Parts: sequence; structure tokens; C-alpha cells
Amino acid sequence: MIKSKKRIALIAHDNKKEDMIEWAKYNISTLQQHVLYATGTTGKRLEKELGLEITIMESGPLGGDLQIGAHISNSLIDCLIFFWDPLEPQPHDPDVKALLRIAVLWNIPLACNRSSADFIISSQLMGREYTRKLPDYECYRHRLDNKK
Ligand code: PGA
Repeated sequence: MIKSKKRIALIAHDNKKEDMIEWAKYNISTLQQHVLYATGTTGKRLEKELGLEITIMESGPLGGDLQIGAHISNSLIDCLIFFWDPLEPQPHDPDVKALLRIAVLWNIPLACNRSSADFIISSQLMGREYTRKLPDYECYRHRLDNKK
């Protein structure tokens, strides 16, 4: 069950940080109703420039994306706003791919550009409880048993 107060992760690659700041500024009153997480530099800028209260993880290239991914796997993040840069390779591209995969696997709302982020943040579901449908992953957890 995703509660009405969402735990939202915010991440922006360097060329997308202005976009993220601008987007967060516009949506600040909604964002303040939820619990925010971010990777290092994105989080510090949002905190400094908008005064948002944020749990700041490690910087993305230093493992922050993977920390957010681990939180998603542990059902500690409900929504991911991730402005990744489609025009520039990143040193941590494998981590970016891993994070996107995990967000899809656990079926959390995921926005990778401003339009999608606008649609998510303005959804009525942001202020309501939501039952996230998940496939039955038990067969994965027990697949070694099954091979016996
Ligand atoms: P940053 O990380 O917020 O520390 O810049 C973002 C990323 O590159 O994933």
C-alpha cells in the first residue's frame, strides 16, 4: 500500500539540475506535503535554493542512485522523479540503468522528464492511498528450491 504521504526520490543529472530546481520550485507546496529523498548534489541544491527538507543520499556517481534503488527494493520510496540526461554519457551509466530497472520492477511511479513529472505531481493519486499491483515474485525467491 502506498500511503497518501508519499516518499519521493528526486534525482537530476548535471545538465538537468536547472530543470529540476525550476520544476520543484513550481511544485513546492505539493512537494512539502510529502517526504523527500535525493542524491547528493541534487539534494543539496534543492535544500539550499528552495529550503526543502530532504534526506540526502550519496552523490549519484558515488553510489547514490544505487542507494535510492535499494530503498525502492525495501519499499522505502514510493515515487521516483529522475531527470537523466539523454545527451551525455555518465560515469555511472550502469547504476542509472539499474535504478530505472528497479523502479519498473517494483512498479513505482517514475518520471524521467518534466512533462511526466507534471502529470505525476498533479495526479489525484498523490494525495490518496494507492494499492500498487505487483507480480508474484515468490517464484524468483524460491527458484533455487525449485531446481532441487
Ligand atoms: P547528484 O547525482 O545528485 O549527486 O548529482 C545525480 C546522478 O548523477 O545520478
